[in-house]
Amino acid sequence: MESEEWVTGTVSLKLHGEPVEMELTVPAGPVKPHRMLPIFHSMTNAFVDQSVEVAEAGGGTISCKAGCGACCRQPVPVAESEIYQIAELVEAMPEPRRTAVKQRFANAVDHFAGIGWFDAAKKRSDLMPTESREEANRKMVALAMQYFHEGVPCPFLENESCSIHQSRPLSCREYLVTSPPENCAKPSPETVRVINIFVKASLSVRRTTQTGNLNVLGFVPLIRSLEVAEKFPERFEEKTGRDWMAEFFNDLASHNNDVAEQPAETA
Ligand code: SF4
Repeated sequence: MESEEWVTGTVSLKLHGEPVEMELTVPAGPVKPHRMLPIFHSMTNAFVDQSVEVAEAGGGTISCKAGCGACCRQPVPVAESEIYQIAELVEAMPEPRRTAVKQRFANAVDHFAGIGWFDAAKKRSDLMPTESREEANRKMVALAMQYFHEGVPCPFLENESCSIHQSRPLSCREYLVTSPPENCAKPSPETVRVINIFVKASLSVRRTTQTGNLNVLGFVPLIRSLEVAEKFPERFEEKTGRDWMAEFFNDLASHNNDVAEQPAETA
């Protein structure tokens, strides 16, 4: 059963030493986790804004803007809940756009399946627990660079701008650079300065809204969303908005030394 009642509460956090208060309105009754994504989007935006303020106070200027979509050729990590949200979003598009977007997804999947990238990504996911963090990061970056150099744009990229800006995935919101935009066309750790996001909500959403249903696939990039949603019908349990938020904030606090949760009030 999906909830139509809402409840509003205040969450007080300390983020990177700064007090942050957020008023959150969440479903009162039980819902699937993809119904919570608009709330996670707002929170992610707030966390990113705080990191941008710090970057700008340190002399950096964000160079990302509409019309610059070089980064939208990277393998975008998505939470299991985002996979089903993306599938619903595409299904709700009017024709002929829906068919055009679906074709772009299918073309991208065919391309990367054809060069064996998904198999390589699965092997990478399997090996990661046996490697040091540095080694795992280095190899993951190499795999991401291989993907990038194929030059296949995200199916939602239109005129070098995101056509689903309001609904874009959490990890897209967390990727901002202060280096010259032209450097993003040939990215390297030396030429692209990605701003440090102190608290990555995307990671907590990935951990708290996954069922294990997709573990067999390893790393799933955004371009596989439609294929995966069709082959693996979602099997999320329903929880109240408060329960989803409690799990999210517990995960956030346990994985981020910069976050301390304060007592919350609910109206
Ligand atoms: S969803 Fe939008 S922001 Fe994210 S990679 Fe695709 S086009 Fe870029």
